Amino acid sequence: MKQENKTETYLYEPQHIADARPDDVQSAQSFCEDYKAFLNAAKTEREAVAETLRLLGAAGYTPFEYGKTFEPGSKVYVDNRGKCVIACTIGRRPLSDGVRLAIAHIDSPRLDMKPNPLYESSGLALFKTHYYGGIRKYQWGATPLALHGVVYRADGTRADVRIGEDEGDPVFCVTDLLPHLAADQSKRTLADGLRGEELNIVLASLPDGEEDDKDRFKRAVMRILHEKYGFTERDFTRAELCAVPAGKAVDVGFDRSMIGAYGHDDRVCAYTALRAEMDTASPEYTTVCVLTDKEEVGSDGVTGLNSDYLFHFLQDLADMQGVVYRHMLRRSMCLSADVNAAFDPTFPDVLEKNNAAYLNRGVCVTKYTGARGKSSTNDASAEVMAFVTNLLDAEGVCWQTGELGKVDQGGGGTIAKYVANRNVDTVDIGVPMLSMHAPFELVAKLDVYHTYLAFSAFAK
Ligand code: MN
Ligand code: MN
Repeated sequence: MKQENKTETYLYEPQHIADARPDDVQSAQSFCEDYKAFLNAAKTEREAVAETLRLLGAAGYTPFEYGKTFEPGSKVYVDNRGKCVIACTIGRRPLSDGVRLAIAHIDSPRLDMKPNPLYESSGLALFKTHYYGGIRKYQWGATPLALHGVVYRADGTRADVRIGEDEGDPVFCVTDLLPHLAADQSKRTLADGLRGEELNIVLASLPDGEEDDKDRFKRAVMRILHEKYGFTERDFTRAELCAVPAGKAVDVGFDRSMIGAYGHDDRVCAYTALRAEMDTASPEYTTVCVLTDKEEVGSDGVTGLNSDYLFHFLQDLADMQGVVYRHMLRRSMCLSADVNAAFDPTFPDVLEKNNAAYLNRGVCVTKYTGARGKSSTNDASAEVMAFVTNLLDAEGVCWQTGELGKVDQGGGGTIAKYVANRNVDTVDIGVPMLSMHAPFELVAKLDVYHTYLAFSAFAK
């Protein structure tokens, strides 16, 4: 604790969590072991849902049934098409007082296989991809990739694919040019360093059959896939296969204070929100934790938050207690849980240092996102900011504010507006991060832990 002096009465000085709450260094370490296990099990939205359903089952959640009445303390869930989950604990207050929403996304940028992905060229078999979400394409060359996803066979049965994660598994990769021959490529802009149609994944290099046979390298790949999974080339058209960085989440730094992994955005908020939801036993307000899909591509589609799937569930809840849905909405509060950019000393020019988030200063409360003069943002009101930050202060949660970049430097959006547009007070909160959307993203364990504490305070 610092010496009290007159200045501190009026001014605010941000603190490192290790100074403000030294005991939390150890708590954060152990909390993050569980988080890393979640990350390793959940590298796609489908895998995140499967792992979440397993955790919810163990925590006593049962499927929500429309028409059934659930008593306070009841824990229910909805599985939306295996790609989103809603987990809910019925509160002591009636639903007419509103619900507490915490919403994070479980999709992350990656390379999706095209519907006809397999081809061969010059003695190699490859997959054509179409990237998903905002990637910096040059970061995806010459790095080990794993294949994840599902493929439906002609008979309607499903094959679950996951290759490149287990010890001894082969991995795959996108190639890049050697510096010796990159004179022309080096003149491209960075955005164009690797182009979309150059993100081709190397699969195999041994032929099948006789020397004058056609498509020998393609056939060799399909023979392996058919033996292992029982599907044929035509079945790629009814598949969702993607390539993600291979490997597990790891500690970063001599002090092990950070975690490096693929897909922190936004599984770090998904996991912390989910843990808080599972930990709440008898909340005052009904808690609704949503892990959603498609945020990285604009939240459209049946599994994106711009669809009605969540709002239909909320209507079903309101019906359960015979309360007016729209009245419930306007008394509800939502934490739109998503990561924000942390200040990076190597690239100090893109953030304005007085309004940037920093590692280890706690959960980032983001009043607005957007671009070009706050366009397309939920700009949380002063009242909502006051409500949320007072709640965090009361529970001893370390928090900071963060702006997504200098004015007119760029910007971005989250799911906040899709909830706020339905007349629900909403604010963005989440973990500050370095190297967002890269194959290897970086977060600080203390921030992860305090984001969990923030969701816990909200779900009390
Ligand atoms: Mn995100
Ligand atoms: Mn993102």
